[in-house]
Amino acid sequence: MVRNLSEIIKSQVRERANGLCEYCHAIEKWQFVQFTIDHILPISQGGTDELDNLALACFHCNRQKYTKTSAFDPETGIETALFNPRCDRWQDHFVWSNDKLQLVGISSIGRATVNALGCNRDRLISIRSADIAIDRHPPISDPVQPNPPT
Ligand SMILES: [Zn+2]
Repeated sequence: MVRNLSEIIKSQVRERANGLCEYCHAIEKWQFVQFTIDHILPISQGGTDELDNLALACFHCNRQKYTKTSAFDPETGIETALFNPRCDRWQDHFVWSNDKLQLVGISSIGRATVNALGCNRDRLISIRSADIAIDRHPPISDPVQPNPPT
């Protein structure tokens, strides 16, 4: 559903997100298309246009998320809430793989979200690979899995 959020609200969401997709941490400034404003709880399920229900999301994460608020954790098969950028801390649920190509869920919420939103799509992996080569992935404050012990 297309909503007409005010430009002020949109810029507040963008600024709060630091220009990152709040799910997959893609960096908006390197993308061809502007990121979208996601309603964390969809309007159709009673969500509002208030800032605490909005998140900056890349086009793909937003499309994959659609009206989902929960998904199955592929490891346990148990349905769990999707990552909520307004009450969950990204670093508690995600880490970059050692080679920085894969987004790894480190909690039930993280795994369900990576899986449901397709955060490791082939196309994303090739973009990340190119971005690593020129030092613009991952975002500087994101955790990366340590090298495996040799
Ligand atoms: Zn994304």
